[in-house]
Amino acid sequence: MTAPAPRPGIMDIRPYVGGESAIEGVSRIVKLSSNEGALGPSPKAMEALKALAPEIHRYPDGGAEALRQAIGARYGINPDRIVCGAGSDELLGILCRAYAGPGDEVLYSAHGFLMYAIAAKACGATPVTAPEVDLTANVDNLLKAVTPKTKILFLANPNNPTGTYLPSSEVARLRAGLRPDILLVIDAAYAEFVSRNDYTSGNELVEAGDNTVVCRTFSKMFALGGLRLGWAYGPENVVGVLNRVRNPFNVGSAALAAGLAAFQDTEYAELCKRHNDYWLPWLSEQVSALGLTVVPSVGNFILIRFPKDAGKDAATADAFLRSRGIIVRAMGAYGLGDSLRITIGTGEENQMVVDALREFLKK
Ligand code: PMP
Repeated sequence: MTAPAPRPGIMDIRPYVGGESAIEGVSRIVKLSSNEGALGPSPKAMEALKALAPEIHRYPDGGAEALRQAIGARYGINPDRIVCGAGSDELLGILCRAYAGPGDEVLYSAHGFLMYAIAAKACGATPVTAPEVDLTANVDNLLKAVTPKTKILFLANPNNPTGTYLPSSEVARLRAGLRPDILLVIDAAYAEFVSRNDYTSGNELVEAGDNTVVCRTFSKMFALGGLRLGWAYGPENVVGVLNRVRNPFNVGSAALAAGLAAFQDTEYAELCKRHNDYWLPWLSEQVSALGLTVVPSVGNFILIRFPKDAGKDAATADAFLRSRGIIVRAMGAYGLGDSLRITIGTGEENQMVVDALREFLKK
């Protein structure tokens, strides 16, 4: 008997493997592998979660009304043009399913977020990458890689895992150079961390036409990765599509309640931002001073490149850090086998990383 077979291409997908959270035999773990908020969630989000417990037999508000209103008011954008998702991953996946299929191409830069390849292949489309310059998305190369089959262009800005970003003028040049029937998806998962005058998350491009959408997440600055909550801001036509294709109750009530409380706790969000503003340059400088190459980052993580010499390479460094209970992310899946990505942690954790790397390099 023949077993049921999935659509062609599905078995080519390499399943996404998240950052580990345990090492056998090690009790104290420092987990810096998934770009989670260093200080944990807002206490108000935790209270909201507890208060919700007696109500979890109720379905959530499928329209995420209160959260969309709050987001709209904060950014001065129309709440009717916001859609919430079970993490921004869900929204990226839905956009692929709705706008691309077999025979179509989904374009992104060489070291773009892994989910883009998964989402493209899952809907039968072909992922296509464009070369970067200095590990940064390059507008000319992206435009050159466009073909008549291109349906979606994903731009992570800032990008994970490189931490690099494009200024808003470059993103505008990208939009202007694309055919209007290509959907530009700006994935601004790390937008809240960026402290650069020439950066915007891209809302102005959403407003300028009907072919650009911005995706955001509660997993990073708001430190709610475990609840799965993201949102997209798009033109009416794209929002209409997302609302047709998403599941009716795609975001659970726990995510909605904690997300709203976290979003409204601006004092805590500012604390998290200040923490990152201090420790991102600190960790970058300390690691550079050890003689390693740090890719300039505007997110809550840094990409460190290691020499190829046996014993000093990224894989050996990874194993050494693990022996000290520190879990970071090896970048082989991104074709960056010489690199490790390290999330900004608490002050103590950051110091532990620097001490461990110093010890490793001295060996
Ligand atoms: N986009 C980028 C660039 C990311 O790094 C991540 C998380 N690793 C996501 C999207 C997905 O985030 P989530 O699904 O948790 O909202």
